[in-house]
Amino acid sequence: MLVISLDLELGFAALHSKSRRIKTMDFELARENFFNLIEPAKRYRIKLTVAAVFGLIEKADSLLEYLRSPCIETACHGYSHRSFDVLSEKEAFWELKKCREIAKRKNIKLNSFVFPRNEVRHLHLLKKFGYSHFIFDSNRNSALDVSLPFEIAGLKAMPRTLYLDSFSIKTHAKILWQLNKKFAHFWLHAWNINDYGIRPLKNLFRMIKFLEKETKFIKEI
Ligand SMILES: [Zn+2]
Repeated sequence: MLVISLDLELGFAALHSKSRRIKTMDFELARENFFNLIEPAKRYRIKLTVAAVFGLIEKADSLLEYLRSPCIETACHGYSHRSFDVLSEKEAFWELKKCREIAKRKNIKLNSFVFPRNEVRHLHLLKKFGYSHFIFDSNRNSALDVSLPFEIAGLKAMPRTLYLDSFSIKTHAKILWQLNKKFAHFWLHAWNINDYGIRPLKNLFRMIKFLEKETKFIKEI
């Protein structure tokens, strides 16, 4: 099984900078990168899981058309992007409730949850809010055997296996190695595209399509 996911904060500064100018610039740049990624995903029929911060989704209606596209699975990435390990249960409940309300209002289907900053907490609340999957960073839980998905708290835990922060030869070698395994989960941020352009991702999509014809490795979840 292959999962490709994108964290759409949109840009870090879009959420956290105090300067309105930097906030807008960062947001626009990351949005442009996101749009550039959607086109090849559509063309190669690659389904992407997009982790969306619902505090941004609430305001950014221009993104809705894309989030509702058949090549996108929208996952929830919290309302404020505050890490769940600093939220009390009550606060986490409030965030999850708020995200569900926005999703309902904007007609977005939500099955997957991606913890902000990859801090897994208040897991028992996810099932209550109708989630079936959550994504987590396996590097932070090295004590566990986390190379394959597993069940916990009535949910399927999907480990991340390769961060596409660069497209060096080394990364390509790692991609090929991971594609030979039973499960691979590649992920990136919209702003990572700034560093290496969209071409390496197009190549990755092309390679996946080729492998899809050859093997039964790639399935949708
Ligand atoms: Zn994030």
